[in-house]
Amino acid sequence: MILISACLAGFNVRYDGGNARNNLAVKLVALGQAITVCPEIMGGFATPRVPAEIQGGTGRDVLTGRAKVMNREGRDVTRQYLQGAQMVLKIARDHGVTAAFLKQKSPACGTKLIYDGKFAGNKVPGAGVTATLLPDHGIKCFGDEDLTLANVRPYVDAVTWENLHHDNLRP
Ligand code: SF4
Repeated sequence: MILISACLAGFNVRYDGGNARNNLAVKLVALGQAITVCPEIMGGFATPRVPAEIQGGTGRDVLTGRAKVMNREGRDVTRQYLQGAQMVLKIARDHGVTAAFLKQKSPACGTKLIYDGKFAGNKVPGAGVTATLLPDHGIKCFGDEDLTLANVRPYVDAVTWENLHHDNLRP
């Protein structure tokens, strides 16, 4: 089973009330090959919400207590991000998830890039909290830029592959 950031599957769960719909993500969910999660919603946030960024490090530093997640109003929301990550991990385990495709740049879902904590739009290398926890437990994490037929092929069944292949679906 594949796990996908809910915003990529078209759900309006982003901080601004929008989504980041990706056609291949939507199709994988419709075909029963993927489940969706939003670590921020699972951490207890509403939509819309005040945006947050990791300050003082990366998702790894948050997991080890060396950095915090702060929202733009200066509120420490680290606990919510840790809770969301743990809930996603539990769901992933319960559903036999082996791979995840996650939205880049989020303090929860980013796999290679996150914002630097200054709320100025600057990106730095690093992963978010959930995107760090999942690989620690054997789940391969890709960014949304990796949502391609070639990359999903190892994780879908033969019938689904034929369906996707004939669609020639592109993100
Ligand atoms: Fe999308 Fe992840 Fe942000 Fe939720 S936490 S809106 S799934 S990027």
